[in-house]
Amino acid sequence: MSISTYNTLTAWGLSPLPGTELMCIAGPCAAESEEQVMTSARVLKANGISAFRAGIWKPRTRPGSFEGVGIAALPWLKRVKSELGLKTAIEIATPAHAEAALDAGIDLLWLGARTTANPFAVQELAEALKGTSTPVLVKNPVNPDLNLWFGSIERLQRTGISKIGAILRGFSTQHPGELRNDPGWNIAIDFRQKMPQIPLICDPSHIAGRRDRIRQISQHAIDLDCDGLMIEVHIMPDKALSDAKQQLNPQAFQNLLAQLHFRQHEEAAENNLQLKALRTQIDELDYELLCTIAKRMETVREIAKLKRKDNMTALQSQRWNAILEQMHQNGAQLGLSNELVEAIARLLHQQALEIQIEA
Ligand code: PEP
Ligand code: MN
Repeated sequence: MSISTYNTLTAWGLSPLPGTELMCIAGPCAAESEEQVMTSARVLKANGISAFRAGIWKPRTRPGSFEGVGIAALPWLKRVKSELGLKTAIEIATPAHAEAALDAGIDLLWLGARTTANPFAVQELAEALKGTSTPVLVKNPVNPDLNLWFGSIERLQRTGISKIGAILRGFSTQHPGELRNDPGWNIAIDFRQKMPQIPLICDPSHIAGRRDRIRQISQHAIDLDCDGLMIEVHIMPDKALSDAKQQLNPQAFQNLLAQLHFRQHEEAAENNLQLKALRTQIDELDYELLCTIAKRMETVREIAKLKRKDNMTALQSQRWNAILEQMHQNGAQLGLSNELVEAIARLLHQQALEIQIEA
């Protein structure tokens, strides 16, 4: 986390997990009963979470499954807030949800992945939320489209909503492997770069879709500088009415917190002299790399002239295969991954071909 997004979250009234700088929103996928809500909120409070989450309207992929208890759960969340002093967070998807949530004094609202993917729905919500000082968190859209995510944030910003955060919950994919959603870490990195002032929280539960991967995803999110985690915790996960496979029981949640390695914010690096020295080395090496590449391109231009004079094609497949093989051999000796060597070789060769064809 950076110090500025950390400060933003604390200004919203959130506090980090004890002894860390990381925010943690936790709670069940869905509020199911008053007792379930109160019991889980009590144990989570003891773990020092920043806010209690519970879906009350559940966006289900197919109809007929549990769709949430709706406004009947609002008084339960009011109790969580007044009796336990916890911040409360729910998903809203329609202007009526927004109005009910604001009336009930819910502290944080979030837009679900299916909502973010729909500009009409987001626009209506932005208008319903106009002027609110309640923070709104925007989950990434289901499809890996960074602009669609930005667009939703901008729609909220344009109606004057100033407290906006983002949640990475992964992206639908045809080939999900063992995770429910593709984490899209590179998209998160681009998000950070383009909207550095927006706090970014990771939802490892919806990325993983299974409890045994929550720790790995959470640690990855921390190492990629996320400001917080949103984790689904249920008092009896196997009996949960939604997302049963990915919810942790309170003990597993506590174990998870004990296992995570928390990090300092980025600005702390400025005081680390050893890190500074290594970064200077990296900058010098990067410069040397660019000089070498520039020299290589100069030689390519010489080759281009010669090939033109002697009527030869730009692409010569045997030569290209030989370069690739040689690079893989050298790379392996130097301890570089095949993947990296392949990517560099292809980039260099593509550029070389372009130079020769233009010549
Ligand atoms: C949820 O948080 O329970 C949820 C439905 O999330 P998403 O919008 O990420 O699918
Ligand atoms: Mn869920």
